[in-house]
Amino acid sequence: MTAAPRVAVIGLGAAGSAALLALARRGIPAVGLDRFRPPHPHGSSHGRSRVIREAYYESPAYVPLVRRAYELWQALERDGGRPLLQQTGGLMIGPADGALVRGARASAETQGLPFELLDAAEIRRRFPVFHAPAGSVGVLEPRAGVLDPEAAIELSLALAARAGAELRFEAQVTGWSGEEGGRLRLDTSTGPVHADRVIVTAGPWAPELLAGAGAPLEVERQVMYWFQPAAPEPFSAARLPVFIWEWGAGRYFYGLPDQGAGFKVARHHDGETVSAAAPRRAVQPEEIGEMRQLLRRFIPDADGPPTDAVTCLYTNTPDHHFLLGAHPRDPRVIIGSACSGHGFKFAPVLGEVLADLALTGQSVFDLTPFRPGRFG
Ligand SMILES: Cc1cc2nc3c(=O)[nH]c(=O)nc-3n(C[C@H](O)[C@H](O)[C@H](O)COP(=O)(O)OP(=O)(O)OC[C@H]3O[C@@H](n4cnc5c(N)ncnc54)[C@H](O)[C@@H]3O)c2cc1C
Repeated sequence: MTAAPRVAVIGLGAAGSAALLALARRGIPAVGLDRFRPPHPHGSSHGRSRVIREAYYESPAYVPLVRRAYELWQALERDGGRPLLQQTGGLMIGPADGALVRGARASAETQGLPFELLDAAEIRRRFPVFHAPAGSVGVLEPRAGVLDPEAAIELSLALAARAGAELRFEAQVTGWSGEEGGRLRLDTSTGPVHADRVIVTAGPWAPELLAGAGAPLEVERQVMYWFQPAAPEPFSAARLPVFIWEWGAGRYFYGLPDQGAGFKVARHHDGETVSAAAPRRAVQPEEIGEMRQLLRRFIPDADGPPTDAVTCLYTNTPDHHFLLGAHPRDPRVIIGSACSGHGFKFAPVLGEVLADLALTGQSVFDLTPFRPGRFG
Protein backbone atom coordinates (compact mmCIF):
# COMPACT_ATOMS: atom_id res chain seq x y z
CA MET A 1 0.00 0.00 0.00
CA THR A 2 1.42 3.42 -0.93
CA ALA A 3 1.56 6.02 1.83
CA ALA A 4 -0.75 9.02 1.55
CA PRO A 5 1.05 12.09 0.20
CA ARG A 6 2.01 14.71 2.75
CA VAL A 7 0.43 18.05 1.87
CA ALA A 8 1.60 21.48 3.00
CA VAL A 9 -0.88 24.37 2.94
CA ILE A 10 0.67 27.86 2.71
CA GLY A 11 -1.68 30.39 4.29
CA LEU A 12 -4.44 29.51 6.73
CA GLY A 13 -7.03 32.19 6.04
CA ALA A 14 -10.42 31.51 4.47
CA ALA A 15 -9.32 29.07 1.77
CA GLY A 16 -6.30 27.54 3.53
CA SER A 17 -8.03 26.75 6.81
CA ALA A 18 -10.79 25.01 4.85
CA ALA A 19 -8.29 23.07 2.71
CA LEU A 20 -6.40 21.93 5.79
CA LEU A 21 -9.65 20.75 7.37
CA ALA A 22 -10.68 18.85 4.24
CA LEU A 23 -7.30 17.11 4.08
CA ALA A 24 -7.18 16.22 7.76
CA ARG A 25 -10.70 14.79 7.63
CA ARG A 26 -9.56 12.45 4.84
CA GLY A 27 -6.72 11.19 7.02
CA ILE A 28 -4.07 12.93 4.90
CA PRO A 29 -0.90 13.96 6.75
CA ALA A 30 -1.13 17.73 6.38
CA VAL A 31 0.75 20.70 7.72
CA GLY A 32 -0.62 24.24 7.58
CA LEU A 33 1.68 27.23 7.76
CA ASP A 34 0.81 30.86 8.33
CA ARG A 35 3.00 33.94 8.70
CA PHE A 36 0.58 35.21 11.38
CA ARG A 37 -1.86 33.54 13.77
CA PRO A 38 -5.25 33.36 12.00
CA PRO A 39 -7.82 34.70 12.24
CA HIS A 40 -6.00 38.04 12.02
CA PRO A 41 -6.65 41.50 10.55
CA HIS A 42 -3.74 41.69 8.09
CA GLY A 43 -5.15 39.90 5.04
CA SER A 44 -8.55 39.53 3.40
CA SER A 45 -10.75 37.70 5.89
CA HIS A 46 -11.43 40.07 8.79
CA GLY A 47 -14.19 42.60 9.46
CA ARG A 48 -16.89 40.67 11.34
CA SER A 49 -19.06 39.74 8.36
CA ARG A 50 -19.14 38.54 4.75
CA VAL A 51 -22.02 38.28 2.28
CA ILE A 52 -23.10 34.92 0.93
CA ARG A 53 -25.41 34.99 -2.09
CA GLU A 54 -26.46 32.55 -4.74
CA ALA A 55 -27.83 34.38 -7.83
CA TYR A 56 -24.26 35.10 -8.79
CA TYR A 57 -24.06 38.15 -11.06
CA GLU A 58 -20.39 37.55 -11.84
CA SER A 59 -21.16 34.28 -13.70
CA PRO A 60 -23.51 31.28 -13.41
CA ALA A 61 -20.31 29.16 -13.25
CA TYR A 62 -20.14 29.96 -9.52
CA VAL A 63 -23.63 28.70 -8.70
CA PRO A 64 -22.80 24.96 -8.35
CA LEU A 65 -19.87 25.93 -6.12
CA VAL A 66 -21.93 28.18 -3.90
CA ARG A 67 -24.66 25.57 -3.61
CA ARG A 68 -22.11 23.09 -2.28
CA ALA A 69 -20.71 25.83 -0.03
CA TYR A 70 -24.15 26.24 1.60
CA GLU A 71 -24.20 22.53 2.45
CA LEU A 72 -20.70 22.69 3.86
CA TRP A 73 -21.38 25.84 5.92
CA GLN A 74 -24.31 24.03 7.51
CA ALA A 75 -22.14 21.00 8.22
CA LEU A 76 -19.46 23.22 9.75
CA GLU A 77 -22.03 24.87 11.99
CA ARG A 78 -23.21 21.44 13.14
CA ASP A 79 -19.67 20.19 13.76
CA GLY A 80 -18.67 23.30 15.65
CA GLY A 81 -21.92 23.75 17.55
CA ARG A 82 -21.98 27.46 16.72
CA PRO A 83 -23.82 29.59 14.15
CA LEU A 84 -21.76 30.93 11.25
CA LEU A 85 -24.43 31.98 8.73
CA GLN A 86 -27.42 34.23 9.32
CA GLN A 87 -29.91 34.13 6.49
CA THR A 88 -31.30 37.58 5.64
CA GLY A 89 -32.12 37.36 1.94
CA GLY A 90 -30.17 39.42 -0.56
CA LEU A 91 -31.16 42.31 -2.82
CA MET A 92 -29.20 43.28 -5.94
CA ILE A 93 -30.27 46.81 -6.91
CA GLY A 94 -29.46 48.69 -10.10
CA PRO A 95 -30.61 49.53 -13.59
CA ALA A 96 -32.41 46.66 -15.36
CA ASP A 97 -29.69 46.51 -18.03
CA GLY A 98 -26.77 46.92 -15.60
CA ALA A 99 -24.22 44.15 -15.03
CA LEU A 100 -25.51 43.46 -11.51
CA VAL A 101 -29.23 42.99 -12.18
CA ARG A 102 -28.72 41.36 -15.57
CA GLY A 103 -26.09 38.97 -14.19
CA ALA A 104 -28.03 38.05 -11.06
CA ARG A 105 -31.16 37.36 -13.13
CA ALA A 106 -29.21 35.27 -15.63
CA SER A 107 -27.70 33.13 -12.88
CA ALA A 108 -31.05 32.68 -11.15
CA GLU A 109 -32.86 31.83 -14.39
CA THR A 110 -30.28 29.48 -15.87
CA GLN A 111 -29.65 27.70 -12.58
CA GLY A 112 -33.30 27.52 -11.48
CA LEU A 113 -32.88 29.60 -8.32
CA PRO A 114 -35.87 31.23 -6.63
CA PHE A 115 -35.96 35.03 -6.93
CA GLU A 116 -38.33 37.97 -7.12
CA LEU A 117 -38.00 40.97 -9.36
CA LEU A 118 -38.94 44.26 -7.65
CA ASP A 119 -39.43 47.66 -9.25
CA ALA A 120 -38.28 50.83 -7.50
CA ALA A 121 -41.65 51.43 -5.79
CA GLU A 122 -41.75 47.86 -4.49
CA ILE A 123 -38.15 48.11 -3.22
CA ARG A 124 -39.12 51.21 -1.24
CA ARG A 125 -42.35 49.66 0.01
CA ARG A 126 -40.63 46.54 1.35
CA PHE A 127 -37.39 48.18 2.48
CA PRO A 128 -38.19 51.85 3.19
CA VAL A 129 -34.57 52.68 4.04
CA PHE A 130 -33.54 52.03 0.41
CA HIS A 131 -34.19 55.13 -1.72
CA ALA A 132 -34.06 53.36 -5.06
CA PRO A 133 -34.25 55.88 -7.92
CA ALA A 134 -37.07 55.51 -10.45
CA GLY A 135 -36.10 52.91 -13.03
CA SER A 136 -34.14 50.81 -10.55
CA VAL A 137 -34.82 47.09 -10.35
CA GLY A 138 -34.11 44.71 -7.48
CA VAL A 139 -33.38 40.99 -7.70
CA LEU A 140 -34.37 39.57 -4.32
CA GLU A 141 -33.01 36.13 -3.48
CA PRO A 142 -34.09 34.31 -0.34
CA ARG A 143 -31.03 32.32 0.73
CA ALA A 144 -28.45 35.10 0.88
CA GLY A 145 -27.10 36.10 4.24
CA VAL A 146 -24.19 36.98 6.48
CA LEU A 147 -21.21 34.80 7.39
CA ASP A 148 -18.92 35.29 10.39
CA PRO A 149 -15.42 35.12 8.87
CA GLU A 150 -13.26 35.15 11.99
CA ALA A 151 -15.38 32.47 13.69
CA ALA A 152 -15.31 30.31 10.55
CA ILE A 153 -11.52 30.37 10.28
CA GLU A 154 -11.03 29.77 14.00
CA LEU A 155 -13.41 26.83 13.89
CA SER A 156 -11.94 25.28 10.73
CA LEU A 157 -8.44 25.40 12.20
CA ALA A 158 -9.58 23.94 15.52
CA LEU A 159 -11.39 21.10 13.76
CA ALA A 160 -8.41 20.51 11.46
CA ALA A 161 -6.07 20.23 14.44
CA ARG A 162 -8.52 17.88 16.14
CA ALA A 163 -8.54 15.72 12.99
CA GLY A 164 -4.74 15.46 13.08
CA ALA A 165 -3.42 18.39 11.02
CA GLU A 166 -0.26 20.09 12.15
CA LEU A 167 -0.56 23.89 12.52
CA ARG A 168 2.48 26.14 12.33
CA PHE A 169 1.78 29.79 13.08
CA GLU A 170 4.24 32.66 12.68
CA ALA A 171 5.94 30.56 10.03
CA GLN A 172 6.47 32.52 6.83
CA VAL A 173 7.12 30.52 3.68
CA THR A 174 9.68 32.25 1.46
CA GLY A 175 9.74 29.75 -1.41
CA TRP A 176 9.92 26.11 -2.41
CA SER A 177 12.07 23.87 -4.57
CA GLY A 178 12.09 20.28 -5.78
CA GLU A 179 14.27 17.76 -4.00
CA GLU A 180 15.31 14.16 -4.57
CA GLY A 181 12.50 11.63 -4.62
CA GLY A 182 10.04 14.06 -6.19
CA ARG A 183 9.26 15.86 -2.95
CA LEU A 184 9.13 19.58 -2.38
CA ARG A 185 11.10 21.53 0.18
CA LEU A 186 9.52 24.67 1.60
CA ASP A 187 11.81 27.29 3.06
CA THR A 188 10.19 28.93 6.03
CA SER A 189 11.16 31.37 8.76
CA THR A 190 11.04 28.45 11.21
CA GLY A 191 13.05 25.95 9.18
CA PRO A 192 12.42 23.69 6.17
CA VAL A 193 9.22 21.70 5.64
CA HIS A 194 9.03 18.71 3.29
CA ALA A 195 5.89 17.73 1.41
CA ASP A 196 4.68 15.81 -1.63
CA ARG A 197 2.12 18.43 -2.60
CA VAL A 198 1.70 22.11 -1.78
CA ILE A 199 -1.44 24.21 -1.73
CA VAL A 200 -0.87 27.96 -2.01
CA THR A 201 -3.65 29.94 -0.35
CA ALA A 202 -1.68 33.04 0.52
CA GLY A 203 -4.43 35.63 -0.20
CA PRO A 204 -2.95 39.09 -0.77
CA TRP A 205 0.58 37.73 -0.41
CA ALA A 206 -0.02 35.38 -3.37
CA PRO A 207 1.73 37.76 -5.81
CA GLU A 208 4.99 37.19 -3.84
CA LEU A 209 4.72 33.41 -4.03
CA LEU A 210 3.15 33.06 -7.48
CA ALA A 211 5.44 35.35 -9.45
CA GLY A 212 6.25 32.47 -11.84
CA ALA A 213 2.64 31.36 -12.36
CA GLY A 214 1.90 33.74 -15.22
CA ALA A 215 -1.07 35.35 -13.50
CA PRO A 216 -0.87 39.13 -13.25
CA LEU A 217 -2.30 39.74 -9.77
CA GLU A 218 -3.13 43.08 -8.20
CA VAL A 219 -3.81 43.77 -4.56
CA GLU A 220 -6.49 46.39 -3.97
CA ARG A 221 -7.08 48.34 -0.78
CA GLN A 222 -10.69 48.38 0.39
CA VAL A 223 -12.32 50.13 3.33
CA MET A 224 -15.18 48.72 5.38
CA TYR A 225 -17.29 51.36 7.17
CA TRP A 226 -19.74 51.05 10.05
CA PHE A 227 -22.36 53.71 10.78
CA GLN A 228 -24.92 54.13 13.52
CA PRO A 229 -28.26 54.44 11.73
CA ALA A 230 -30.97 56.92 12.73
CA ALA A 231 -33.12 54.07 14.10
CA PRO A 232 -31.67 50.57 14.60
CA GLU A 233 -34.74 48.44 13.86
CA PRO A 234 -35.05 48.96 10.06
CA PHE A 235 -31.35 48.10 9.76
CA SER A 236 -31.55 44.92 11.82
CA ALA A 237 -30.95 41.48 10.30
CA ALA A 238 -34.63 40.70 10.89
CA ARG A 239 -35.66 43.51 8.54
CA LEU A 240 -32.86 44.21 6.09
CA PRO A 241 -31.36 41.89 3.47
CA VAL A 242 -27.70 42.05 2.51
CA PHE A 243 -27.49 44.11 -0.66
CA ILE A 244 -25.29 45.19 -3.54
CA TRP A 245 -26.11 48.43 -5.33
CA GLU A 246 -24.90 49.28 -8.82
CA TRP A 247 -25.07 53.04 -8.41
CA GLY A 248 -23.12 53.91 -11.58
CA ALA A 249 -22.21 51.77 -14.60
CA GLY A 250 -20.01 49.01 -13.18
CA ARG A 251 -19.69 50.84 -9.83
CA TYR A 252 -20.94 49.10 -6.73
CA PHE A 253 -21.35 49.50 -3.02
CA TYR A 254 -22.80 46.89 -0.71
CA GLY A 255 -24.03 46.59 2.84
CA LEU A 256 -24.97 44.21 5.60
CA PRO A 257 -27.52 44.62 8.35
CA ASP A 258 -26.54 45.88 11.79
CA GLN A 259 -25.65 42.89 13.95
CA GLY A 260 -24.56 45.01 16.89
CA ALA A 261 -21.50 46.89 15.62
CA GLY A 262 -23.38 49.25 13.28
CA PHE A 263 -24.61 49.17 9.70
CA LYS A 264 -21.71 48.01 7.52
CA VAL A 265 -21.14 49.38 4.02
CA ALA A 266 -18.25 49.34 1.57
CA ARG A 267 -17.47 49.96 -2.04
CA HIS A 268 -16.79 46.91 -4.20
CA HIS A 269 -13.51 47.73 -6.05
CA ASP A 270 -12.63 51.41 -6.87
CA GLY A 271 -9.74 51.03 -4.38
CA GLU A 272 -6.08 51.90 -4.82
CA THR A 273 -3.49 49.30 -5.81
CA VAL A 274 -1.20 48.46 -2.90
CA SER A 275 0.93 45.57 -1.71
CA ALA A 276 0.18 43.38 1.29
CA ALA A 277 3.47 44.61 2.75
CA ALA A 278 2.39 48.28 2.61
CA PRO A 279 -1.38 48.48 2.51
CA ARG A 280 -1.94 52.05 3.93
CA ARG A 281 -4.09 51.05 6.86
CA ALA A 282 -5.16 54.51 8.06
CA VAL A 283 -8.60 55.59 6.83
CA GLN A 284 -8.80 59.32 6.02
CA PRO A 285 -11.79 61.50 6.99
CA GLU A 286 -12.30 62.27 3.26
CA GLU A 287 -12.86 58.57 2.58
CA ILE A 288 -15.54 58.43 5.26
CA GLY A 289 -17.01 61.61 3.76
CA GLU A 290 -17.23 60.01 0.31
CA MET A 291 -19.02 56.98 1.72
CA ARG A 292 -21.46 59.27 3.51
CA GLN A 293 -22.26 60.98 0.22
CA LEU A 294 -23.37 57.64 -1.22
CA LEU A 295 -25.45 56.96 1.88
CA ARG A 296 -27.12 60.39 1.77
CA ARG A 297 -28.10 59.70 -1.81
CA PHE A 298 -29.36 56.12 -1.50
CA ILE A 299 -29.83 55.21 2.19
CA PRO A 300 -30.11 58.54 4.05
CA ASP A 301 -31.23 57.00 7.37
CA ALA A 302 -27.87 55.21 7.56
CA ASP A 303 -25.91 58.46 7.53
CA GLY A 304 -25.39 58.54 11.29
CA PRO A 305 -22.15 58.80 13.25
CA PRO A 306 -19.37 56.57 11.87
CA THR A 307 -18.51 53.91 14.45
CA ASP A 308 -15.58 52.17 12.74
CA ALA A 309 -13.59 52.04 9.48
CA VAL A 310 -11.11 49.26 8.72
CA THR A 311 -9.05 48.40 5.63
CA CYS A 312 -8.91 44.99 4.00
CA LEU A 313 -7.31 43.64 0.82
CA TYR A 314 -8.69 42.20 -2.40
CA THR A 315 -6.38 40.08 -4.60
CA ASN A 316 -7.58 40.57 -8.17
CA THR A 317 -7.03 38.72 -11.41
CA PRO A 318 -7.57 40.72 -14.64
CA ASP A 319 -10.96 39.05 -15.23
CA HIS A 320 -11.93 39.04 -11.52
CA HIS A 321 -12.39 35.28 -11.53
CA PHE A 322 -10.50 33.02 -9.13
CA LEU A 323 -7.27 31.10 -9.61
CA LEU A 324 -8.01 27.45 -8.88
CA GLY A 325 -5.85 24.67 -10.24
CA ALA A 326 -2.32 23.37 -10.70
CA HIS A 327 0.58 25.77 -10.97
CA PRO A 328 1.40 26.02 -14.71
CA ARG A 329 5.03 25.12 -13.96
CA ASP A 330 4.56 22.34 -11.39
CA PRO A 331 1.46 20.13 -11.05
CA ARG A 332 2.45 19.29 -7.47
CA VAL A 333 1.66 22.87 -6.49
CA ILE A 334 -2.03 23.76 -6.34
CA ILE A 335 -3.15 27.38 -6.39
CA GLY A 336 -6.26 28.50 -4.53
CA SER A 337 -6.12 32.25 -4.47
CA ALA A 338 -6.91 35.60 -5.96
CA CYS A 339 -10.57 35.55 -5.11
CA SER A 340 -10.92 39.11 -6.45
CA GLY A 341 -13.02 40.33 -3.54
CA HIS A 342 -15.75 37.69 -3.60
CA GLY A 343 -14.22 34.45 -2.31
CA PHE A 344 -15.16 34.12 1.32
CA LYS A 345 -18.59 32.55 0.80
CA PHE A 346 -16.92 29.69 -1.08
CA ALA A 347 -14.33 28.90 1.61
CA PRO A 348 -15.47 25.39 2.54
CA VAL A 349 -16.02 24.29 -1.05
CA LEU A 350 -12.65 25.78 -1.99
CA GLY A 351 -11.19 23.59 0.75
CA GLU A 352 -12.84 20.53 -0.73
CA VAL A 353 -11.79 21.42 -4.29
CA LEU A 354 -8.19 22.15 -3.30
CA ALA A 355 -7.91 18.88 -1.39
CA ASP A 356 -9.27 17.02 -4.45
CA LEU A 357 -6.83 18.79 -6.77
CA ALA A 358 -3.87 18.09 -4.49
CA LEU A 359 -4.75 14.42 -4.11
CA THR A 360 -6.20 13.47 -7.51
CA GLY A 361 -5.53 16.41 -9.83
CA GLN A 362 -9.27 16.57 -10.51
CA SER A 363 -12.47 18.15 -9.25
CA VAL A 364 -16.14 17.34 -9.65
CA PHE A 365 -16.68 21.01 -10.55
CA ASP A 366 -15.94 22.63 -13.89
CA LEU A 367 -12.92 24.75 -13.03
CA THR A 368 -12.21 25.88 -16.60
CA PRO A 369 -12.99 29.57 -15.88
CA PHE A 370 -10.49 29.51 -12.99
CA ARG A 371 -7.44 27.89 -14.66
CA PRO A 372 -4.27 29.57 -13.38
CA GLY A 373 -2.70 29.37 -16.86
CA ARG A 374 -5.50 31.24 -18.65
CA PHE A 375 -3.64 34.55 -18.88
CA GLY A 376 -1.01 33.07 -21.15
C1 LIG B 1 -13.36 44.37 2.53
C2 LIG B 1 -13.64 43.03 1.98
C3 LIG B 1 -14.94 42.59 1.88
C4 LIG B 1 -15.22 41.35 1.32
N1 LIG B 1 -16.51 40.93 1.27
C5 LIG B 1 -16.79 39.70 0.83
C6 LIG B 1 -18.11 39.22 0.92
O1 LIG B 1 -18.99 39.91 1.40
N2 LIG B 1 -18.35 37.95 0.48
C7 LIG B 1 -17.37 37.17 -0.02
O2 LIG B 1 -17.65 36.05 -0.41
N3 LIG B 1 -16.09 37.59 -0.10
C8 LIG B 1 -15.79 38.84 0.33
N4 LIG B 1 -14.51 39.30 0.31
C9 LIG B 1 -13.47 38.46 -0.28
C10 LIG B 1 -13.03 37.40 0.69
O3 LIG B 1 -13.01 37.89 2.00
C11 LIG B 1 -11.69 36.90 0.22
O4 LIG B 1 -11.81 36.41 -1.11
C12 LIG B 1 -11.20 35.77 1.09
O5 LIG B 1 -11.29 36.09 2.44
C13 LIG B 1 -9.76 35.46 0.71
O6 LIG B 1 -9.30 34.40 1.49
P1 LIG B 1 -7.83 33.85 1.29
O7 LIG B 1 -7.77 32.60 2.05
O8 LIG B 1 -7.48 33.86 -0.16
O9 LIG B 1 -6.90 34.99 1.96
P2 LIG B 1 -6.63 35.26 3.55
O10 LIG B 1 -7.83 34.87 4.34
O11 LIG B 1 -6.11 36.62 3.62
O12 LIG B 1 -5.52 34.21 3.88
C14 LIG B 1 -4.23 34.25 3.40
C15 LIG B 1 -3.34 33.73 4.52
O13 LIG B 1 -2.06 33.43 4.01
C16 LIG B 1 -1.11 33.77 4.98
N5 LIG B 1 0.15 33.92 4.25
C17 LIG B 1 0.39 34.74 3.21
N6 LIG B 1 1.64 34.60 2.75
C18 LIG B 1 2.20 33.65 3.51
C19 LIG B 1 3.50 33.07 3.51
N7 LIG B 1 4.44 33.44 2.65
N8 LIG B 1 3.78 32.13 4.44
C20 LIG B 1 2.83 31.73 5.34
N9 LIG B 1 1.59 32.27 5.37
C21 LIG B 1 1.28 33.21 4.47
C22 LIG B 1 -1.65 35.06 5.58
O14 LIG B 1 -1.11 35.35 6.83
C23 LIG B 1 -3.14 34.75 5.63
O15 LIG B 1 -3.52 34.21 6.88
C24 LIG B 1 -14.18 40.53 0.85
C25 LIG B 1 -12.85 40.94 0.97
C26 LIG B 1 -12.57 42.17 1.54
C27 LIG B 1 -11.15 42.62 1.67
